[in-house]
Amino acid sequence: MHSDTHDQELQSDADALRAHMVERQLRRRGISSPAVLDAMREVPREVFVPSAEQDRAYDDCALPLPHGQTISQPYMVARCVELAALRDSDVVLEVGLGSGYQAAVMSRLCAQVVGVEIIADLAAGAQRALSTLGYDNVRVRVGDGSVGYRPFAPYDAIVVAAGAPRVPDELIEQLKVGGRLVIPVGDETQILSVITRTASGTVTRDYDACVYVPLRGAAGRHDA
Ligand code: SAH
Repeated sequence: MHSDTHDQELQSDADALRAHMVERQLRRRGISSPAVLDAMREVPREVFVPSAEQDRAYDDCALPLPHGQTISQPYMVARCVELAALRDSDVVLEVGLGSGYQAAVMSRLCAQVVGVEIIADLAAGAQRALSTLGYDNVRVRVGDGSVGYRPFAPYDAIVVAAGAPRVPDELIEQLKVGGRLVIPVGDETQILSVITRTASGTVTRDYDACVYVPLRGAAGRHDA
């Protein structure tokens, strides 16, 4: 039976779980950008989580998506988004849209997100979730994002949500000067790296060890 009171209770439960997630999983581990914490408090993760996993929507872990893929752990989403250092006017490319959750978080912090996903069925699911929420500044594209996505390049930031065996040159080329590429580099385990394009080249800084599903496609893992 449908009841508005019931809906409101579910809503406030989700708000409470999200506030708890922000405190325990994010702020306590060093995520400090107020804008990123606000975006993580705002976006309903349950909308992006498969129905079988609904009761784990705010757990401190990655969750399974169809086709053997995963929706990243909330901490890793916040970490990548914080490292991308987004500004209101930025145009951002996400390689590996998956559920659309990370794109949704980024869409609260910049002008436009272009999300490329190699599995059409996942792209369709992400588009549905984003439309449900009215997050209309995310463009969803199906394709191989390991070589970027030229139609909207150059980007202020590119965030890769899959483990890359090496940094694809095409992604560097599609950054503006001053633009940031956030990418997990490695095979079974990766190092989260931030490569900033400068007028004369690039500057690389390495951060957390992490485990993402493999990046596929032309500049991805050939065994994946
Ligand atoms: N950011 C996602 C995480 C998805 S997991 C989320 O918040 O849910 C990584 C995704 O990258 C998978 O959906 C996988 O299909 C996709 N992927 C892997 N290689 C890709 C490629 N070359 N181009 C686009 N998407 C890719």
